[in-house]
Amino acid sequence: MKKPNVYIETYGCQMNKLDSEYVHTILASDGFNVVSDKSQADVILFNTCSVRENAERRVRGRIAELSALRKKKPELLLGVIGCMAQELGEKLFSKDVRLIAGPDSYRKLPVLLRRACNEAVVDTIFESDETYEDIKPVRASQFSAWVAVMRGCNNYCSYCIVPYTRGRERSIPITSIVAEIEYLKKTGGREITLLGQNVNSYCDGEVNFAGLLKRVSDTGIGRIRFLTSHPKDITTDILDVMAERDNVCPHLHLPLQSGSDRILKAMNRGYTVSDYMSLIKKAREKVNGISITTDMIFGFPGETEEDFQASLRVIENIQFDFAFLYRYSEREGTKACHLPGSVPEEIRIDRLKKAIAMQNTITHQNNEERIGSETVVLIEALSKDGRGWFGFSDTNIPVVFTSESKDIKIGAFVNVLIESTTGSSLIGKAE
Ligand code: SAM
Ligand code: SF4
Repeated sequence: MKKPNVYIETYGCQMNKLDSEYVHTILASDGFNVVSDKSQADVILFNTCSVRENAERRVRGRIAELSALRKKKPELLLGVIGCMAQELGEKLFSKDVRLIAGPDSYRKLPVLLRRACNEAVVDTIFESDETYEDIKPVRASQFSAWVAVMRGCNNYCSYCIVPYTRGRERSIPITSIVAEIEYLKKTGGREITLLGQNVNSYCDGEVNFAGLLKRVSDTGIGRIRFLTSHPKDITTDILDVMAERDNVCPHLHLPLQSGSDRILKAMNRGYTVSDYMSLIKKAREKVNGISITTDMIFGFPGETEEDFQASLRVIENIQFDFAFLYRYSEREGTKACHLPGSVPEEIRIDRLKKAIAMQNTITHQNNEERIGSETVVLIEALSKDGRGWFGFSDTNIPVVFTSESKDIKIGAFVNVLIESTTGSSLIGKAE
């Protein structure tokens, strides 16, 4: 009998991308063919994100588009997996969507898919121990890998749906993480990114995140990154490991969310602007050349013009290297969804635009200051115009460069002299 072809379309964060790699392994080891061309698919799975309404709207649009495909190919099965599946469950069923599975249900996908040929199937049961630690993901890149160290989140920031879709925090045993990284290193891996919704709250018995980072650094893997940090969890010990170890990248992605203490309190973030500024000062003092990036939300319920100006002042003050800036999006079931003081949509958009304009100028200025310096880049691909190469610096800035060397290849580290900037990217020449 022909193996069913499955196409996986992934939306959202790095954790979702890694989850799709786990799903690939789970399906491939149970008689399914995971294909990269959706026109060959018997099954299309959408691995979804529900952090903002926009993300959900995009998935709904894609489902509607592919539903049209089912008219020509009625046996095509559509399924929704991941955070949207967990959040909305059966509400996602339609004449086209027949399978719904949450982030803890991926092991059951082969069984669920077979059942879905005869009936609509939903599985959104939380498995508080599920970490997929024994599953070797089929990785998109041979050189750069995401390695989950924990799943879930206990923080309950008042705007955020993640604790409701991904469940409680659970850490993966250090022995299993280190074994995976040693295997990656042996098979050509150059860079790993330790992943967790709340990565620095990692805990395996006596081992905290600083301990894990040291142990991972000892494997000798080329480069180590980690995502995403919460300001309450960044300890001096973590900064010390970053400062001492050459293979730990000098980059901290540290979501601030707002520059107003009143709004931070309503967001349940657990720190003040002054705590955050002290942390940044300490990180810059300890870790040479560190780049700092952030996430911020504009138009949270009750955000006044004064709160917004406070956010702009902090952006100006800190001079982030890059920022992911969002307008607040109501998420049903979260605490903030029921707070008074909803900010009109046009004000959210206007504030977001002003913040983006300010941050773009800062990013550009910071990158101009890098002209004339040298940076090590891990080559990921040919540049878009095909005349050079593309990769990221250790500070996580995109770099496009040319080289006269014939030995240069994807997956190699190369020293690049920075000659100019487009604003967000650096342009240079390899030695
Ligand atoms: N765990 C990380 C943290 O602590 O920041 C990030 C998780 S979340 C998937 C990524 C970013 O989405 C958040 O940092 C926040 O800025 C943004 N976000 C989350 N919920 C949001 C909402 N309801 N509206 C707008 N942005 C939101
Ligand atoms: Fe969401 Fe806050 Fe957890 Fe990040 S720390 S995933 S923003 S609840």
